[in-house]
Amino acid sequence: MRVRRRNPDRVDEVTGPLDVAALLAHLEVNPTTVLVILDGNLVTSATVLSDEADVEIRPVISGGAGPSRCHDCRGPAVIEEPRHRSAWCGEHFVDHVHRQIRKAIDHDRMFSYNDRILLAVSGGKDSLALWDALLTMGYGADGLYIGLGIGGYSKRSGRVCAEFAAKRGVELITVDLQEAYGYTTPSGSQASGRTTCGVCGLSKRYVFNRVAVEGGYDVVVTGHNLDDEAAVLLNNVLHWHEDFLARQRPLLPATGPNQVRKAKPLYRLSEREMAAYCVLRGIDYVVEECPLVDGNTGQEHKETLSALEAGSPGAKAQFLFGFLDRAEQLFPRRDDATAVALGECQTCGMPTTAAVCAFCKQRTRILVDLQGDPTGPAAAARQLPIVSTS
Ligand code: AMP
Ligand code: ZN
Ligand code: ZN
Repeated sequence: MRVRRRNPDRVDEVTGPLDVAALLAHLEVNPTTVLVILDGNLVTSATVLSDEADVEIRPVISGGAGPSRCHDCRGPAVIEEPRHRSAWCGEHFVDHVHRQIRKAIDHDRMFSYNDRILLAVSGGKDSLALWDALLTMGYGADGLYIGLGIGGYSKRSGRVCAEFAAKRGVELITVDLQEAYGYTTPSGSQASGRTTCGVCGLSKRYVFNRVAVEGGYDVVVTGHNLDDEAAVLLNNVLHWHEDFLARQRPLLPATGPNQVRKAKPLYRLSEREMAAYCVLRGIDYVVEECPLVDGNTGQEHKETLSALEAGSPGAKAQFLFGFLDRAEQLFPRRDDATAVALGECQTCGMPTTAAVCAFCKQRTRILVDLQGDPTGPAAAARQLPIVSTS
């Protein structure tokens, strides 16, 4: 078919039949910025164009000729975000990211400039970008890196975090799971028969809270982004995990002693935006994914949602924000008077609804299998061995 484009004028020959959506994808044209015209009539994305068709693609955004322009300064754009129907130059994209973080912090009252913030950093794009953003925005935030013992991946992650901290002159707390608790994610998973993601998640949540309590921090902050939260929401809805839906919030307040509130200031920003932020800010991060997550459901749900997003930009954000707007009403939190009272874990003193907390139970099971001894190296220790580099 013959495809005419305007501003600047050009004609391409494209083999048909193809539907309009496929044609635009082939030509790398953003569907929201053009009209497609066939024999004087407008056609929509599902219309099939024959091999003989004569089609015009007409730009509709004023000033939209040629490359995209920055939404803020009209200079040449370096990134487009269909969800916001905007594009930005590097400088203003960084501002856009900071604005979204500011909106999250203020809307959910996550923390103030006086709070002591502990930021969990993995060495990946999200948490390092967040560290950079918080420091740039004037917040004081110390980092916490947990060495999970996942071979070279963990070594590289730890190194990247340490280099970031050294460059900015900020504090990084490092906890090595093997040294502190006697197991790694792989060995713990093998010994307990639980999934690696299960062992890893429980261990991380526990260490985040424990280090924050022992260090006198007011809030633990993680780099969970829009894609992470939307994927978790999809999973929770697919299985109607009502108790999880009641706890899926960007801010979780502390509900008792020895608990620190948790905040996710990146929930309004996508993975792609965070990766772009790192590139623009010159942040070195570990690009490879954890080798143990292969084929987990979180990843599949992210792909499903991204396919939806490609067809209707904004769908992912609408799904998550729509839930958050209604969550208090539809899935109220139950950590008030009706909730089960939190006590102290007999082994470690951390909060739990049982006699022994889930982390200590898991750890005992692992150590019995690994060394036939539930009272391994740090079992009785209430004081956590912390390595601090700054
Ligand atoms: P993930 O569960 O890997 O998607 O990570 C979600 C968030 O958890 C990251 O953005 C970090 O804030 C935090 N996190 C993940 N892995 C680590 C780690 N090894 N040490 C400290 N924080 C981590
Ligand atoms: Zn600009
Ligand atoms: Zn415990």
